[in-house]
Amino acid sequence: KRQEVGPQEHGIDPKLVDERALNVVHTLKEAGFEAYVVGGAVRDLLVGLRPKDFDVATNATPEQVKGLFRRAFIIGRRFRIVHVVYGRGREHEVIEVSTFRAYMDNAAAEQVAGNEKTSKSELAGMKHAVDSSGRVLRDNVWGPQDEDATRRDFTINAMYYDPETQTVVDYHIGIKDAKKRVIRMIGDPLTRYREDPVRIIRAVRFAAKLSPLGFKIEAKTAAPLVQSQALLADVPQSRLFDEMLKLLQTGHALATIEQLKALGMSRGIYPLLDVVVERADQPFVKAALQDTDRRVGESKPVAPSFLLACVLWADVRDGWAARLADKQHPFPALQDAIDDVFNARIGDVSGRGKLAADMREIWMMQPRFDKRTGSTPFSLVEQPRFRAAFDFMRLRADVGEVDVLLADWWQEFSQASDAVREDLVAQMR
Ligand code: ATP
Ligand code: MG
Repeated sequence: KRQEVGPQEHGIDPKLVDERALNVVHTLKEAGFEAYVVGGAVRDLLVGLRPKDFDVATNATPEQVKGLFRRAFIIGRRFRIVHVVYGRGREHEVIEVSTFRAYMDNAAAEQVAGNEKTSKSELAGMKHAVDSSGRVLRDNVWGPQDEDATRRDFTINAMYYDPETQTVVDYHIGIKDAKKRVIRMIGDPLTRYREDPVRIIRAVRFAAKLSPLGFKIEAKTAAPLVQSQALLADVPQSRLFDEMLKLLQTGHALATIEQLKALGMSRGIYPLLDVVVERADQPFVKAALQDTDRRVGESKPVAPSFLLACVLWADVRDGWAARLADKQHPFPALQDAIDDVFNARIGDVSGRGKLAADMREIWMMQPRFDKRTGSTPFSLVEQPRFRAAFDFMRLRADVGEVDVLLADWWQEFSQASDAVREDLVAQMR
């Protein structure tokens, strides 16, 4: 059911296609391979959004791809892909190139794992991938384009665009679904959620992202979502944590929370996400979520530490107040309150040392904003996390938790010359 669709029908604006992606496709085609822009980028192009990143799919192997570009790196052990790098420093951009992969349901994958001499595994050159579970093998078995399409999640995510001929290759009525504004799982939804439960979260993410354009999850795709949530128990915590951050930090945090509520999934994806949904209507948390969405919309950086510090602040503040009432000294009281919150809320996410350290610093700096005399303000403003801690305090001021004048003073101070800073401090005496 391969369909090739021309520019009149799909209406993609070629100007939205990134030059580097064009270059990658061109280079691969010159060398005699097939190459297309694929996945989310084609989806976004079709609905008139500028994709934030471009993936390319090809029938060249990672080694062959690497050989064609000066700055290309094979990455990933589980899922080998090539990063082709353009530009330097802040301007640098990466185009991800992946080789067409075969579609295997769980049974087929187990067979491959049990017997490396199946025809598909020969096709694949799989010497790098050895895993008795079949997972690693499955993800690295090369295959034809139509199978590469079938292994993808939603019909709108499974199209291929050749920017040179301006044709879209579509195996699963993705174009029709994009026009009808539906998010539809390829194949049997429940089976596909079982295969990879993270698709449950991805359905929510795309529903949130595309909701302003009128997209809805198609009925059969939505129906097994709630019952499938239990499958998430088998997904590693770190992957769930990453998916949670994608829900909250890609510019659609508030829309995501609406979707979760509408789909009956306010609870059960990830404990910390439950807390976010629960508190989304509290003024401080709401302001933080709004602020995050706005920043992403303006292409400003967002840090997970900031948002999570906002979400868990109520616990820290209450624990701190209780200890102060107990006559504990302010700093150790705050420290202990923070320890409690970490133990209760993020204890299970290992390897997040930096994130936790940043959250702690944002919180620990809050009482230090009260001291505006002597050399304290000068050293505080030099702290690497000053900006984040200040933004946090500004949000507290916005909801009436601290004096707006305090936030204004720090704003002035942080932007002033040394001489003006001296004056600002002098006024505090
Ligand atoms: P975004 O715009 O948020 O990056 P995306 O669609 O590009 O969305 P990615 O996570 O970047 O999402 O994945 C790229 C493509 O890989 C998807 O469009 C989809 O075709 C495929 N894909 C990714 N994750 C899965 C999955 N869990 N199951 C099946 N296909 C997937
Ligand atoms: Mg993407």
